[in-house]
Amino acid sequence: MKYITTVLFMILFPNIACCHAIISYDISPLQTLDPPLIQIVISLTISSPGKVIELDMPKWCPGDYQLQNFGQYVEGFHAEGPNGELLNVIHPDSYSWDVNPEDYSRIKIYYLIPNEPPGNFSQNVQIENHLIYINGPGALLYLPDYRYKKTILHVHPPGGFSVITALRKVSDTPDSYYASGYDALSDAPLLITSRLKQYHFTANGTTYTLVFFDHLNELNDGERWVDVFRKIAVTENRMMGGPASSVYHFLIDVGGVNGGLEHADSCRVVYFPGLTVQEYAPFIAHELLHSWNVKRIRPVALAPIHYIHPVTTRSLWFVEGVTEYFAQLTVRRAGLESRDYFLQYWRNIVGKYLNNPARKLVTADESSADVWKTQTSDGYGGLSYYTEGELVALCLDLEIRHATDNHSTLATVMRLLKKRYSAPLAGYTQLDIENAVNDAAGENLSPLFQSLTASTQTMPLMKELGYMGLNIRFENLEDTTHAQRELMRSWSEVLSNP
Ligand SMILES: [Zn+2]
Repeated sequence: MKYITTVLFMILFPNIACCHAIISYDISPLQTLDPPLIQIVISLTISSPGKVIELDMPKWCPGDYQLQNFGQYVEGFHAEGPNGELLNVIHPDSYSWDVNPEDYSRIKIYYLIPNEPPGNFSQNVQIENHLIYINGPGALLYLPDYRYKKTILHVHPPGGFSVITALRKVSDTPDSYYASGYDALSDAPLLITSRLKQYHFTANGTTYTLVFFDHLNELNDGERWVDVFRKIAVTENRMMGGPASSVYHFLIDVGGVNGGLEHADSCRVVYFPGLTVQEYAPFIAHELLHSWNVKRIRPVALAPIHYIHPVTTRSLWFVEGVTEYFAQLTVRRAGLESRDYFLQYWRNIVGKYLNNPARKLVTADESSADVWKTQTSDGYGGLSYYTEGELVALCLDLEIRHATDNHSTLATVMRLLKKRYSAPLAGYTQLDIENAVNDAAGENLSPLFQSLTASTQTMPLMKELGYMGLNIRFENLEDTTHAQRELMRSWSEVLSNP
């Protein structure tokens, strides 16, 4: 995730037997009501007869490390047997409901969700006359005993509205989609709107879709972004050894609020018409890179995600800072910004780091692990794990390049982690990152790794930048060697045919 600086009632119960799912969600926006609501019906085939069914609402949204307690928004919760028999429900906690299914083999659970306030990076539930946006954790109850069961989503849009989601469509059934389980369902936000403009491109076998929505009257430059996004995708696919998924949606909220939030096969990002390529492209590169870094290559604490208790990891500097590092390199390598703009960016980041007194008090690890003590999703103690992580990434990348005569880089580390820990394999520990760095370098970089992540020592930026013939102001040193110039060229080069 990332901030961007600049900002009748009809319920249908379709037959799901065709889909062989034991759990399905029917979503019906009731946006003409005052206040507007979304009706959600969960249809369940009971797998353990007589056992009480637990339903929980997430307390937080993956990617946004703050408690939002979505259970507080649930209204009108009730459950029925196959002929409308009202079932006994207990509400033991603000986020939890227990349903007694009695002897029924199929039951339905009903509830309503109103508009919700946005999180740090994304809308949660937004219901307007022309637009419904649903971020899964903000609206969808989950059943712990059925979390990994194949799930079907049926959407019942108002007339004239389109449904957009990265989930795979059920053939021959309008607005119905498959999900492998709750995690996939809740990580595929749902856009239902009458105002959208779509563009498509393919790259490396993946179909990418740009979906601009909401304030389209302000949008007169949508088409110009298609080639920009394509270059970003091609450059990142090349670095990561192929796309993360076969379908990817950019849900672009024109004139919306907040920044961007990553999902497995999509992201929601705001866009303000008039932004330059140099201003906007790193933002897109950041969110797309998350389709690997954190969505598939993820810390063990996030595999699987615990939706109720805050998950603690020391590696958010890697999740966010390394993602931003590669976003900046991607935009440069895709030829979307000048060398001067690129170097000025790094000058600013180094200046920000050196002028932040928090760096002498808080480590990158602590900034990550203690983020829950803040409400910012940015880091603890005044130390942003974005900025800190970007410079940790810079130091590791340059040290690996220096150690291997530029044969290995931090991208080698990413590909190693992808091979060793990408879902459905287990997530990584911080030691696993350290080991991958050492393997990529072919030597022991653990002292540097520990110093960068677990200490408040000043980063050895002068030494690292010296490897490519630059001083700390990113100016050329006198009398550079061929090796230094080659490293600099490789680090900041524009790739052919991005
Ligand atoms: Zn991010």
